[in-house]
Amino acid sequence: MLTVFENPLCATQWCHEQRDRNQTIGFVPTMGALHLGHLSLIKRSIAENDVTCVSIFVNPLQFNEASDYSSYPRDLKGDYRLLADAGCDMVFSGTNRDMFPETTSIDDVKLLDPGPAARGLEGDYRPGHLEGVCTVVERLFKFVGDCRAYFGVKDFQQTLVIQDLAGKLGYPTIRICETLRDTNGLALSSRNKLLSDAQFELAGNIFSALTQAKTLWQSGCRDCDQLRAAMYKTLSGALHIEYADIRDPHQWQAGSPDGTLDRAIALIAVRIDSVRLIDNLRLDDGL
Ligand code: AMP
Repeated sequence: MLTVFENPLCATQWCHEQRDRNQTIGFVPTMGALHLGHLSLIKRSIAENDVTCVSIFVNPLQFNEASDYSSYPRDLKGDYRLLADAGCDMVFSGTNRDMFPETTSIDDVKLLDPGPAARGLEGDYRPGHLEGVCTVVERLFKFVGDCRAYFGVKDFQQTLVIQDLAGKLGYPTIRICETLRDTNGLALSSRNKLLSDAQFELAGNIFSALTQAKTLWQSGCRDCDQLRAAMYKTLSGALHIEYADIRDPHQWQAGSPDGTLDRAIALIAVRIDSVRLIDNLRLDDGL
């Protein structure tokens, strides 16, 4: 049975009760408009914990454009149905006021510093985004308390920031989950609902570019310039490329490499009209 709370303080109480009964809690933070990618995190949490809770909050702090925030898909009722069918135990949402009770204006919320993992790529192209993510996720962690929290590697830089945040707080335990993709390789995303059929097909080039880089890597290429060039070539002109880059996933601070690497992740951000899509693929076999 799915328990629904529209006040996060009720979720806190529920989580306390679960821990009092020695139940382990899995937590999946989301912005709703749930798809199979979210559900894969939820299924993993259900498999690894006694109870699973999900949050749904479209966080205004992490949108740099008002139009992106207002057009972000929302479907609470549909989400509740999916969660009940998946066997999730509890879902909570909240208003801006519930999440940031210290102020009446969202512009006055004091943002957390997401640290060095926020430098470059998303940090450059979405100023303030990872600050907003970090700020809301800290609040969500405080509502839920100690648990295992599940995040998708699709938002790779976000996972680095969240792991640093959890390290600072001393909880929760973070679990990173693989990316679920559509038939053309496009990473599932709530924003995919905003694409026309033609745009959806075009967006398949993102995964083609990533796999192109991986094929090159597997054939022995370790030259970052060549790997980048292969991705740019595969991404068609109708996509506006924000970045197609190679990084050492363990050495984020080192920035964009100009030489060769032993470990590598390829990361892409593009825009198709007003829809921004990101994806990544680990090129070596490491974790
Ligand atoms: P969002 O609702 O977009 O904030 O996503 C909530 C969580 O689901 C984040 O940890 C995402 O990384 C994760 N997620 C989003 N898309 C996918 C996907 N296609 N596969 C796996 N996880 C995903």
